[in-house]
Amino acid sequence: MKGKMQGVTLVADWDPKPGFKLGPKDVDGRQTYLGSQVWRNPRIEIREYDIPTPGPKEVLLQVKACGICGSDVHMAQADEEGYIYYPGLTGFPSILGHEFSGIVVEAGKDAFDKSTNKPFKGGERVTSEEMLWCSQCKPCADGYPNHCERLDEIGFNVHGAFAQYMILPARTLWSLEPLADIYKGDDIFLAGSLTEPTSVAFNAVIERGGGIRPGDRVVILGGGPIGVAACAVLKKAGASKVIISEPQKERADLALKMGADYAINPLKENFADRVLELTDGMGADLFMEATGLPEVVYPDIERVIWEGRTLNSTVVVTARAEAKMPVTGEVLQVRRAEIIGAQGHSGHGTFPRVIACMADGMDMTPMITKKISMEEVPANIIELQTNRKESKITCLVK
Ligand SMILES: [Zn+2]
Ligand SMILES: [Zn+2]
Repeated sequence: MKGKMQGVTLVADWDPKPGFKLGPKDVDGRQTYLGSQVWRNPRIEIREYDIPTPGPKEVLLQVKACGICGSDVHMAQADEEGYIYYPGLTGFPSILGHEFSGIVVEAGKDAFDKSTNKPFKGGERVTSEEMLWCSQCKPCADGYPNHCERLDEIGFNVHGAFAQYMILPARTLWSLEPLADIYKGDDIFLAGSLTEPTSVAFNAVIERGGGIRPGDRVVILGGGPIGVAACAVLKKAGASKVIISEPQKERADLALKMGADYAINPLKENFADRVLELTDGMGADLFMEATGLPEVVYPDIERVIWEGRTLNSTVVVTARAEAKMPVTGEVLQVRRAEIIGAQGHSGHGTFPRVIACMADGMDMTPMITKKISMEEVPANIIELQTNRKESKITCLVK
């Protein structure tokens, strides 16, 4: 398919901090694993591109919906010295956008659709994983694509979905057709664009956190989109009590709407006291740490584990943070508790399970608090630096 398209593009200057050494995957002037050490003066431009052509195992996707993620905000946000906030894999200029859905318009001859085990024909409605795991390194071969050693990331170091078209490998696509009975018109694409953040939450609480048994009690610390999505997943999994801890009222209210049973405002009431009260002194089987403020939250988590009567609690580390966690090993020993790290969303059937849950009535679309056009994406990415009231701002691409 020939023609031109527009893409919301992040541009920044390659200006490594003194002492920065190129690592195994860093490419001088183009790409790094440590964005905040290298990129300076970020700016967002809507640029014009040729519509790309898919290779034999790839498809050309017409993008229909794409949500703004916190990482988009942090890539475009600079500290006092002008360096970007986002610390991870980045290669600029890059079209942003990695929480998306669309329609296959063209496919290579070896691009297979997992939902039919036949080649893509065109017309299929799909979403995609954001992580382009290589399938060839040792972690991939061992079944851990979230820890791929040769990772590319859509909307970070390869072109993303704030554009009319994009190229994707068939291996990371998942069909949205199971949602067709519930969602009509654009709604199937809006729901589909929430598969990626919901899969991050699913990977954290189900795959890495070990899941829950029906009846378990769960505490989510932090009501950003991943914490809110986890409320829905955990209710679907049969949690008896889901407690959200979040100071911003709009976010706490959204968590309640998505399935949380109780909300705690940790700035106005004592978190540990309140969790123990709401659980009749039992505490929680699972804690999801989604604040990125370990020095603030761990003393209270530890007190709930120590004073609550639930053994075998798991704390799953979901938010990224540079600070160390203050935790007493003795508490973990005596209470048989554990702390586990979670990263990514790929593998172990996570995407298709999230889509199946949505098809079975787990409605994620209330997370979309604002719908915008592509022209409005740059201003909304900037606005999210200070606005904590919105959850997902989602672009309907025309
Ligand atoms: Zn994201
Ligand atoms: Zn790999």
